[in-house]
Amino acid sequence: MRTLLPLLVTAALAAPAALAADTDTPLTTLPYTPGLDVAAMDRGADACTDFYQYACGGWIKENPIPPDQSQWDVYRKLAQDNQRFLWGILDQLARATKGRDATQQKIGDYFAACMDESAVEKRGIEPLQPYLDRVDAMKSKGELAAVLAQLHLATGDAGLLFGFGSGQDFSDATRVIAFASAGGLGLPDRDYYVKDDARSKEMREKYVAHVARMFTLLGDTADRVRAEADTVMRIETALARASLTRVERRDPYKLFHKMDRKQLAALTPAFDWNAYLKGVGLAKLNDFNVTQPEFFAEVQKELEGESLADLKTYLRWHLARGAAPFLSEALVNENFDFYSHTLRGVPQLRPRWKRCVALVDGQLGEALGKEFVRRAFSPQLKAKALRMTRQIEHAMREDIESLAWMGPETKRQALAKMHTLVNKIGYPDKWRDYSKVVVKRGDFFGNVERAQRFESRRDLAKIARPLDRGEWQMSPPTVNAYYDAQLNDINFPAGVLQPPLYDPKMDDAPNYGNTGGTIGHELTHGFDDEGRKFDAKGNLRDWWTEADAKAFDEKASCIVDQYAGYVIVDDIRINSKLTQGEDIADLGGLILAWAAWQAEKAATPDKARDGLSPEQRFFVGYAQWACENDRPENQRVKAVTDPHSPARYRVNGLVVNMPQFAAAFACKAGTPMTSEKRCRVW
Ligand SMILES: [Zn+2]
Repeated sequence: MRTLLPLLVTAALAAPAALAADTDTPLTTLPYTPGLDVAAMDRGADACTDFYQYACGGWIKENPIPPDQSQWDVYRKLAQDNQRFLWGILDQLARATKGRDATQQKIGDYFAACMDESAVEKRGIEPLQPYLDRVDAMKSKGELAAVLAQLHLATGDAGLLFGFGSGQDFSDATRVIAFASAGGLGLPDRDYYVKDDARSKEMREKYVAHVARMFTLLGDTADRVRAEADTVMRIETALARASLTRVERRDPYKLFHKMDRKQLAALTPAFDWNAYLKGVGLAKLNDFNVTQPEFFAEVQKELEGESLADLKTYLRWHLARGAAPFLSEALVNENFDFYSHTLRGVPQLRPRWKRCVALVDGQLGEALGKEFVRRAFSPQLKAKALRMTRQIEHAMREDIESLAWMGPETKRQALAKMHTLVNKIGYPDKWRDYSKVVVKRGDFFGNVERAQRFESRRDLAKIARPLDRGEWQMSPPTVNAYYDAQLNDINFPAGVLQPPLYDPKMDDAPNYGNTGGTIGHELTHGFDDEGRKFDAKGNLRDWWTEADAKAFDEKASCIVDQYAGYVIVDDIRINSKLTQGEDIADLGGLILAWAAWQAEKAATPDKARDGLSPEQRFFVGYAQWACENDRPENQRVKAVTDPHSPARYRVNGLVVNMPQFAAAFACKAGTPMTSEKRCRVW
């Protein structure tokens, strides 16, 4: 993925309206920002000394982080424009209740119910009470599995002990099986529980204090809440210690452990899988991928070692954490205060309209996306994006054929993978059918729950059925893109194919640098440290000769070493073993975009504009997708959790490896944006 936006439902909400001045009005048309914006540059800076500053200095100066955001960048700014446009659509569908079709009724009434803050306030925590009662009513640990099945269906929340869903079998990508995965934590990563530095310790203390305050809001007495929060921390710490690190999780072999029902039961005998599977409607299931067996062994220990009362406390916390954004102001604020303010340094809550638009997008994304596409994504735009994608793919095939470090046998397999690769552009061919989701005006919490139940059942219903290759993991308005290793497809939602990223009014050079770079990035993911382990059919299989695999690792380690030298914030350096897939994709993507542009340029030459040569415009166009401002608190979270390097290095870290850049800006050897030792994988 190019960037990560907080799209998860559990992360979607914060609290009451903080007026963000001129952006707090709905839009009926999308605003235009040019693809290469000279005003966003800092032409006083030297391109050969700090190219990121040269290309983005103006943007950085003119775009301070809004008070309701953890960071601010070109992607997020465009995402906010999209949100305001979606707000306009939803506002109209919420008001005009006549003449709507069945799908428009759902998104209109969902939005209306979400925006009805006084109705939400009146209900307080009452909507959560039936869940808390279900947990309280357990008389023995033996009942936990059946209760957890119901909670997972209703919330889809892997924070409740573990995650359970569907996925493609790593050894046979045509089959969909059940995945039982590690989860159970309230902090953003297992590292927060195990690291011993002062900041990690301080964050743990603040977390425990937050958990205690949440128990107070549930009505627990002051003498109990501290002990309850300590119980949560004890259980989560044990689960965290048994969880793989993010770097370990980059290796798909470490996440693939096929088990049948007997083996699963033997791993966690204290958990009644029969009751759980019956509860989620899959009583006959026998094929599982247990992604982290050590984690489930720890679940077994916790179920044995912790008392029923303490396990209830743990579940109550996670229910409150997950539901807080959908409840009254006190819970919304407490949730915001820890997860956004303390963790990421965000001063203010997002206004309610933003939270509600994000929720419609998260829960009924293709219904809203259909409206977006109809208004903002033309067939001509789709055709242009497809044409560029094919050019980039052609460049990748030529690159593979010409590689000196890869032998003919591995090349044959790599080209086979290129042959089966599928492009998905804009939106799905077949829209998701939401007819089973009941949406009621005036029942916000109920809508959230029913939409989640629909999604849980939709996901589980895929198990043991024919694979749907047309499915998307992102909604059409999303400003992002992704590669899926098992479907072997690259996906570009309509939201990412708009100005200032793809600008039909611009010359080719910046468009190839920017959107061409994105397409090349996603394509290169098929051949990064992770993607290269899957074959043309999407199966986890080693198709590399030993010598070629070794050559790949050497090339990749050049990039790992390069990025390990970059500082994120304070004295924290990039964990370049975590970011290597993205760093490889960035560099490969820009090299492919350059090659595709050369072919295009031969037919339709570009001219100099704004005092920049076509070659300079290619690189400035590339860099201007990345311009960003970030908060130190947020940078610290990302240093642990984000597989992407900070924007500055996603620009400067690439150009030092490209002789085309040094030529375009006439950079002399020895200047900071040149390198004696150039890295290149693809
Ligand atoms: Zn990526």
